Amino acid sequence: MLNKKITKLLVGTNNVGKLREIKDLLPKNLEIYSPADFKIKSPAENGKNFAENSLIKAKFFSYKSKMVCLADDSGLQIEILNGAPGIYSARWGGKNANFTKAINRVFKELKKKDKNWKIKKIKAKFICALTIYWPNKKSIHSVGEIKGYISSKPKGKKGFGYDPIFIPLNKKITFGEMKSSEKYKIDHRYKAFKKIKKFL
Ligand code: IMP
Repeated sequence: MLNKKITKLLVGTNNVGKLREIKDLLPKNLEIYSPADFKIKSPAENGKNFAENSLIKAKFFSYKSKMVCLADDSGLQIEILNGAPGIYSARWGGKNANFTKAINRVFKELKKKDKNWKIKKIKAKFICALTIYWPNKKSIHSVGEIKGYISSKPKGKKGFGYDPIFIPLNKKITFGEMKSSEKYKIDHRYKAFKKIKKFL
């Protein structure tokens, strides 16, 4: 079953923005569905890391829909915050996914750790874990990451989430200032996708 190319795929997310981003990365001849098409609600993400959470989602949605499912889990890890916000990246934005709030929380935590953080290079990385889960219980996994630094203030209005405060390594602008076409060619999601492309 793993050798057969997938022709019909459920993308395991109820987040409209993420669904659009993932669709952009998938081959155009795939028949794509989302949990909303089957009125399936999202499961609790109670894994210990990105890989476990992507498996929880892919397995749950595949079981409910009887389809092959691709799910991701992603987030930002900041080195001096011991990897926070990590798997809690979305939750730092609160119920309404308010990213001004999430970014302010990052700044607050950085200030608590080191009051001179703004004049230092604060290392961070975005991580994306993907799982494809088949109804016969087989699964494959991949992880992609992009390293960079935290900007001392939010810059740019493009993208979403923590994009305005993330400067990729060897670049001078944040993801929030970068054209999405440029970001998609280097980011964590793209790198994770490249590794599982042969199944799609
Ligand atoms: P998930 O839906 O649990 O995977 O949540 C991922 C969260 O990580 C998002 O809500 C964002 O806060 C953050 N995140 C992941 N990827 C990106 C990105 O490419 N740019 C900005 N924020 C991201």
